[in-house]
Amino acid sequence: MQQDKEVEKVIVIGSGPAGWTAAIYAARANLLPLVFAGRPKTVPTTILPGGQLMMTTEVENYPGFPEGISGPKMMSFFEQQAVRFAARIVTDSGLSPDVSNPDDGHSYSYHDCKRVDLSVRPFMVVGEDDTEYFAHALIIASGATANWLGLENEQRLAKSGGGVSACAVCDGALPIFRDKVLAVVGGGDSAVEEAAYLTKFAGKVCMIHRRDQLRASKIMAKRAAENPKIEILWNRIVIDVLGDDMITGVRLKDTISGEESILEVGGLFAAIGHTPATEFLQGQLELDEKRYIKLSDPYRSTTSVEGIFAAGDVVDSVYRQAITAAGMGCKAAIDAERWLAEQGID
Ligand code: NAP
Repeated sequence: MQQDKEVEKVIVIGSGPAGWTAAIYAARANLLPLVFAGRPKTVPTTILPGGQLMMTTEVENYPGFPEGISGPKMMSFFEQQAVRFAARIVTDSGLSPDVSNPDDGHSYSYHDCKRVDLSVRPFMVVGEDDTEYFAHALIIASGATANWLGLENEQRLAKSGGGVSACAVCDGALPIFRDKVLAVVGGGDSAVEEAAYLTKFAGKVCMIHRRDQLRASKIMAKRAAENPKIEILWNRIVIDVLGDDMITGVRLKDTISGEESILEVGGLFAAIGHTPATEFLQGQLELDEKRYIKLSDPYRSTTSVEGIFAAGDVVDSVYRQAITAAGMGCKAAIDAERWLAEQGID
């Protein structure tokens, strides 16, 4: 029976910059947050453990790290800070955090959240092993995942820091890309924006688009056309990524003639959209047309259900930065704390 269950003050779902920051603030507010950090390779994965920074080799734009820091190491620091203030994490061995989380990878014992029931009070969160947890408030910071082409060598080089990325703003300024010919895949606003950004560092940027017309808005398309450093390769798809430790090129296929060719590049950026991790919400919370959680007030973290707060890339298709996600995580924890206090729970 639900009445017999222990009820948490707040459960945090997600373990990227938004999730851990929410956990740090909630823990320091004495709310003893319980965190679903997500498990790598759970199928279907609902939460990317550690968030997208686990795919980022070097973070150079997060204030406070003048020499830069690896994405996984940074997330390990976030986690350690949350645990230091008594955040608890749902794991294979109970609610025991694994602060030995390796610098270069995920903790494999952390649990995913399978589904939630937001129609009951307290809210119910069901873990991957079907254990039911209850909480007065939830902070959802389950993030979004960049869409990849899905090629084996693309994933291998993305994980090893071999010059393949899904975020030009995060990685484009790295020395490995300086003065190189870089490829950006996609024809939307992000692809144009990333290509234009990369021209600050690259010798040349080739946009590879699968059709003969950009999806990007007219003004962005014009920006791409007028940039002398951008060349658009129309009707082309990437069918393989070449290189052992470092990308050396991509194999392209012409979508009309079927002809294959090799383009030598020193970097590849996928800009083919993002998918927010909202599947586990199963229509219980208002989402926008792109399936991002809709905030009821754009300046707060409140959602369509009172007591449910959201932060980070799961609500943000615009900025998608670690620093903006962390700021939103802070806001969500403060909103949750105030709301709980209003309910007489502190
Ligand atoms: P998007 O608009 O969905 O565009 C994705 C692009 O990737 C499309 O051109 C699509 O090709 C291509 N694509 C998708 N899957 C592919 C695959 N497997 N292989 C090759 N190409 C593939 O995504 P977005 O560019 O990230 O933009 C998302 C939203 O954010 C949009 O509403 C956009 O307007 C907005 N945004 C705005 C700005 C801005 O205004 N400054 C900047 C960034 C994003 P097809 O065209 O053939 O479908």
